[in-house]
Amino acid sequence: MLLGPPGAGKGTQADKLAAALKIPKVATGDVLRAAVRDATELGRAAKSFMDRGELVPDDVILGVMQEALARPQAERGAILDGVIRTVPQARGLREALKRLGRDVSAVVVFDVPEDELIRRISGRVVCETCQSTYAGLEPGDTCPKDGCKLVRRPDDEPEAVRRRLAVYRSQTEPVIDWYREHGARVISIDAVGTPDEVRDRLLRALGWRPQS
Ligand code: AMP
Repeated sequence: MLLGPPGAGKGTQADKLAAALKIPKVATGDVLRAAVRDATELGRAAKSFMDRGELVPDDVILGVMQEALARPQAERGAILDGVIRTVPQARGLREALKRLGRDVSAVVVFDVPEDELIRRISGRVVCETCQSTYAGLEPGDTCPKDGCKLVRRPDDEPEAVRRRLAVYRSQTEPVIDWYREHGARVISIDAVGTPDEVRDRLLRALGWRPQS
């Protein structure tokens, strides 16, 4: 499970870990953005919260999470990217995993100074279609992976970013202590560096080797 403030690089590392460990990534933010783009019922329920930089209600998230974990691809485990952001969500996940006879093997907390988070977020764009995130490209450029349009996320505008950081401090940071109190393996990593440096640091801290 990856925990950390917006802009900490969870999405980038989730992709790298998923490739290294050969298990899928589950990112509720990506699922919700796709639902908003496709104007599904889920998307309509989530959009206004997301645009304001607020959390989507726990019952909505628990539904998304359960569906993702029940997929056959997740049988050998999954990288949970931003899936748990409140203590009730952590409790819900514990119940869902217990029913499946599974558990959270590690909680990785991404440590990045706030000025660096703001610098990263203000320079990033996302592909409307495949959700890949890029630094150094502009809104309107095309995605190097699939040629679709790159956009600035509405919640990456400064006011929404300030709200998201405040929400992280008040609602998500307590989740870290909750996991510690419940005996989980909680690891903090310095997430400043190139994506590959951070990935290597992360795998070393976990003691996990890439799967060939
Ligand atoms: P992200 O792409 O991870 O930054 O998520 C974008 C937005 O989706 C967040 O600002 C929330 O509005 C919503 N979201 C994603 N995951 C969750 C979650 N576990 N709980 C509540 N809201 C979420």
